[in-house]
Amino acid sequence: MINEPNLQVRVKRIPEGIPAPDDLEIVEGTVPRPGPGELLAKTIYLVVDPYVRSRLSGRHFDRQPQPGDLMLGRTVSQVVDSRIDGIDAGDFVCIESGMQQYAVVDASDVIPIDPTAAPMTTALGILGMPGLTAWSGLCVLDPIKPGETLLVSAASGAVGSMAGQIAKLKGARAIGLAGSDEKCAWARNAGFDACINYKNPDWPSVLAEHCPDGVDVYFDNAGGDVLNIIVRDHLAMNARILICGLIAQYNLKDAPPGPNLGPIVSKRAQIKGLVVYDFEDRREDFLREALPWFAAGRLHYKEELHDGIESAPQVFSRLMSGQNFGKTIIRVSDDPTLNR
Ligand code: NDP
Repeated sequence: MINEPNLQVRVKRIPEGIPAPDDLEIVEGTVPRPGPGELLAKTIYLVVDPYVRSRLSGRHFDRQPQPGDLMLGRTVSQVVDSRIDGIDAGDFVCIESGMQQYAVVDASDVIPIDPTAAPMTTALGILGMPGLTAWSGLCVLDPIKPGETLLVSAASGAVGSMAGQIAKLKGARAIGLAGSDEKCAWARNAGFDACINYKNPDWPSVLAEHCPDGVDVYFDNAGGDVLNIIVRDHLAMNARILICGLIAQYNLKDAPPGPNLGPIVSKRAQIKGLVVYDFEDRREDFLREALPWFAAGRLHYKEELHDGIESAPQVFSRLMSGQNFGKTIIRVSDDPTLNR
């Protein structure tokens, strides 16, 4: 039994607009004990994901959290006590544990991590759920072809940066959209052919210069006005649009009016919805392809590390006001793999 408090981040009230730090609260809980078929793990890294905001608004297909509930969050954790065959104390795992220092989960929720394959934080970013999302979209749902032009929004984020890099590794051209010159420079260094700051008013004409015949695949992580403009003016003939995320809309009370879909018809374009959970059975295929890319130094990633679970309310507010640059991860306790 562990005799220390278990700090948890709980929902105090459902945010309106950009979440404020005091929409969440830090509560002292107790360390739970695992039952048969469960394990107890200590959080090392906690990722702050945008989809949590849409869950809080009740617009996600999963249940809306209520005041008092534990905030959702995936973590890289170290097993303290295991009652699951094949998983031992000391192992590292990726789990849907919620935002807390200790968690008990059952076997269905455990993804083992090999800490020698890549830095463990990547299991929450480019080699974890966000990476699987990009790979599922561009390698399974609608494979990108050599010579095609991909445009991807939130290009410095975990999903967007992986989408652009996979496109390049598959012989396509990758153009990014990002919200600052610094983010665009990072994406270009990561191998994008171009990255355009969509906060500059002339971004549509810069995009047209880079893609005079339009984009073949728009991998959309943001929605909003940018999506409307791309659908209206920047699609190539037979273009495909993968709608992956709508982060620009998560803080809005009501969904904005949708795009005029007329050009989808005239351009013979297709729109597909992408849900990473549908591709869970392809995770091993994803890692079989992505880990050699990583080992060969062909994948770049950006992370923003914060310290202490107490920082979660401010960090979530920062994420949902678009200030983060790279995958937002909180270091909750020391990472033992860094001291080896
Ligand atoms: P990250 O946390 O890595 O990056 C988020 C980025 O989104 C920000 O840095 C910001 O970059 C951009 N952004 C655009 N508009 C806004 C806005 N109004 N407020 C805040 N941020 C904004 O995110 P991920 O890469 O993990 O996720 C990207 C998208 O993919 C999200 O919409 C997410 O919900 C979705 N997703 C969907 C999945 C699925 O199964 N369909 C699975 C996983 C993620 P910038 O400044 O460049 O705009």
